[in-house]
Amino acid sequence: MSDMRNELFYEQKNGYDLIPLEERVKLEEYCSGYIGFLNSARTEREAVSFSVAEAEKRGFVAYVPGMALQPGMKIYRNNRGKALMLAVIGKRPLSSGAVIAGAHIDSPRLDLKQLPVMENEEICYFKTHYYGGIKKYQWVTIPLELHGTVALKDGSVTDVCIGRNKDEPRFVITDLLPHLAGDQMKKTMAEGITGEGLNIVIGSVPYDDEGKDRVKLAVLSILNDLYGISEEDFLSAELCAVPAFDVCEIGLDRSLIGGYGHDDRVCAYAELQAIFQVEDPEKTCVCILADKEETGSDGVSGMQSSAFDTFMEDLCTAQSVELRRCFENSFCISADVTNAFDPNYPEVSEKRNEAKINYGMGICKFTGARGKSGTSDASAEVVAYLRRIFEKNSVIWQMAELGKVDQGGGGTIAKFMANRNIDTIDAGVPVLSMHAPFETVSKFDCYMTFRGVLAAYSEK
Ligand code: MN
Ligand code: MN
Repeated sequence: MSDMRNELFYEQKNGYDLIPLEERVKLEEYCSGYIGFLNSARTEREAVSFSVAEAEKRGFVAYVPGMALQPGMKIYRNNRGKALMLAVIGKRPLSSGAVIAGAHIDSPRLDLKQLPVMENEEICYFKTHYYGGIKKYQWVTIPLELHGTVALKDGSVTDVCIGRNKDEPRFVITDLLPHLAGDQMKKTMAEGITGEGLNIVIGSVPYDDEGKDRVKLAVLSILNDLYGISEEDFLSAELCAVPAFDVCEIGLDRSLIGGYGHDDRVCAYAELQAIFQVEDPEKTCVCILADKEETGSDGVSGMQSSAFDTFMEDLCTAQSVELRRCFENSFCISADVTNAFDPNYPEVSEKRNEAKINYGMGICKFTGARGKSGTSDASAEVVAYLRRIFEKNSVIWQMAELGKVDQGGGGTIAKFMANRNIDTIDAGVPVLSMHAPFETVSKFDCYMTFRGVLAAYSEK
């Protein structure tokens, strides 16, 4: 009787029951590297800089169109400092397809408006326009730090970073005290804090002179001292406020990682570490770190941009292969996070099909909303292929779905890859409190996502 159950039932097990102790050492090692990465890469630009530096240490060279390609060569293409493509050239020609993994390195945050500096009642603020899907009430009364880039008229570019180092000041958006929040508390959570209300406090001491906006003048003079910029330079700046929390271990057993931007730098890091392990692959391996996923993958650095096609077409041209032939034989893991079942909020999930913490890499056959709209529904054959290579490589994984039917939904870059005629499937790390200023993932799932991408890259 029980033998028959073993044979016929599909039972999932907690990942910690499935791996040997030695593997836990590797898992911890991998995760401490990831914590370092997440602490230093708070924006897509910083993630690109980190990745390029690490890639160059491992022999990757900047690809120049027209470059001759040899099997085993390691190249990268930096797309405007905001997205990155890396490849290790395979022994087989690109007509037999590439193995692609694509993650995104942008995360929800508060972008500064183009004329952000405002003084109101002798307090100085940055006005913001939030980026990506956020619950606005989560972004008040937390420490914030400032990151970004100011492009000047003379063509020079200045990087800005204030608040990352311990001795630097930080910023905050204030909220009402409960004593006076009677009316606010009657509003819905969507209305309690408004988009135009997300104003960041940046100073309060007036400049020592007569005239108006003395606090603003004082703040601008500090910025001028630090970066040589004036108010007009904000017009051509990309600055954003991100949570100033350090990434840390969570739980007495230290089994989880809390931090800002797991979505989707946790998968970006997994891909990066996986492609760093690839030597002389059969098929060409490609790692994409994309921008703009959180706002729909539009724009030159998003996955809908033809920057990717251009890069791949350049590689194909070097081998006299047609790009469309390469794409139709390629396989892509769209490495993006998924929801982790949260026992505090069971009502939004259908437990049987939702990913669980510590159960491994989460495979989403489809995403979308309202009857699978807006998704690339991976074929059964593609799922079977993953089952096969994950079993062969002892990758612990689980099937995942983003919430109950009609509860909501979401998307990834998967459909933009699949629309290129590339067999694509979503797979990544299950996250608790996704899109919050402080998200939580399990170390086990982070490590297995790395192992999963590596299994795909290693496949003959
Ligand atoms: Mn994502
Ligand atoms: Mn997201």
